[in-house]
Amino acid sequence: MSNSASQKKERTLAEPFRIKMVEPLKMTTEAYREEKLKEAGYNTFLLQAEDVYVDFLTDSGTGAMSDTQWAGMMLGDESYAGAKSWNKLEKVVKDLTSMPYVLPTHQGRAAERILYGILGGTGKVFISNTHFDTTRANIEFTGATAIDIVEEHDENDHENMSFRGNIDLIKLVQLIEKCGPENVAAVIMTVTNNSSGGQPVSMANMKSAREICNRYGLLMVIDGCRIAENSYFVKHKEPGYGRHTCKSIAQEMLALGDAFIMSAKKDGMVNMGGLLTLRDEELSRKCINMLIISEGFTTYGGLSGRDMEALAIGLVEVFDEGYLHYRIKSTAFLGEGLKAKGIPVVWPIGGHAVYIDAGKLFPNIPVDQYPGHVLACALYTKGGIRCVEVGSVMFGKHDKDGKLIPAKRELVRLAIPRRVYTQSHIEYVLDVFDDILEMQNETKGYKIVYEPPFLRHFTARFEQL
Ligand SMILES: *Cc1c(COP(=O)(O)O)cnc(C)c1O
Repeated sequence: MSNSASQKKERTLAEPFRIKMVEPLKMTTEAYREEKLKEAGYNTFLLQAEDVYVDFLTDSGTGAMSDTQWAGMMLGDESYAGAKSWNKLEKVVKDLTSMPYVLPTHQGRAAERILYGILGGTGKVFISNTHFDTTRANIEFTGATAIDIVEEHDENDHENMSFRGNIDLIKLVQLIEKCGPENVAAVIMTVTNNSSGGQPVSMANMKSAREICNRYGLLMVIDGCRIAENSYFVKHKEPGYGRHTCKSIAQEMLALGDAFIMSAKKDGMVNMGGLLTLRDEELSRKCINMLIISEGFTTYGGLSGRDMEALAIGLVEVFDEGYLHYRIKSTAFLGEGLKAKGIPVVWPIGGHAVYIDAGKLFPNIPVDQYPGHVLACALYTKGGIRCVEVGSVMFGKHDKDGKLIPAKRELVRLAIPRRVYTQSHIEYVLDVFDDILEMQNETKGYKIVYEPPFLRHFTARFEQL
């Protein structure tokens, strides 16, 4: 009995929501998609969204709002100052962060520009587990330096799998000593660690980083746009947290920070929005000045009343344990399914995305023919799936002879929008990979025929070799 019970197939991972409104998708043929991709210069960023069936380009601002959020949109108070919707948002954010100063912004990078514009400047150093690209750009724009020190792991070390987004505490101390604490503008903890595969940060790591900041009198900023997803990992992987709610874990973690920056387009469960919250009164005054100059008055920042209403609701919904379970498990379902097929995925699977090592998937395609790009193009033509290359197209540089200096790895990211695709969409994606596996002996890639001087992946054009 018990034996047969234990052999029972695991139940299908079913969505903790049902569908009340549908957005029809255009069904296209492979021939049609080949034509469209060619017209787009083989750059998936240049495709029209309506020609995409499953859009895994990003999880940022692409989620679906709930019926409660949509109902909240109708209650949005559009008063210039002191709107009800603002009071509601401020209350939710204060409860979450325990920080007294809350500044609404139109998205995450606006909060970054304000805070790092004030803290940064030539000679200043920011240290992070990993700076997200807009974070780095906003810091470097002030003339300051951004240094990443994510804890390094052996890829095959399956012992120490759980928190691969952690900051390297030994390097943190060494760097502070080397740069001089007076030059360190802030320590930035990105949770989950987006640029390192959406990997979580443990509470223990955050506490130790806090202690180090205390020791040297440094400011600790939590870049926490996926704080709810991170809390799920803490609950399920860090000893002692199994009985805590994800919300209380987030509260405990955010209580450790001096400032919190959030792109609400992720775990805020809205399509646009951002937050900057602070503990220090003087710093908050400086930030509020910048907010008023560039975003808007303190009680709306860059947002309309209805946006604030939807965000206040989204920040509660995201901590629903059933939702978070489904969210993390459905990302893992895709990653584990790919691994089972023999697709080389970055392991363990993070919270919001699955990363595929296209260099390993297509060993016969040289890096200067962009194996990641080959995969991104094939996923579109074979299945109408859009994703993003994060390999040598995005990060490659040229030496003085014009030869490619490749990225560390030829990765492709499948980022999963929140509450948008169903389990059968995910299974469809897995099916498309059967066609991808048939291309493993492929030897021909792409060459770049046009590239702009900066951020070339957005607008470059390619030709098939
Ligand atoms: C998305 C993101 C940002 C920037 O937020 P935007 O809303 O896109 O401006 C900053 N940090 C991290 C970790 C992010 O993922």
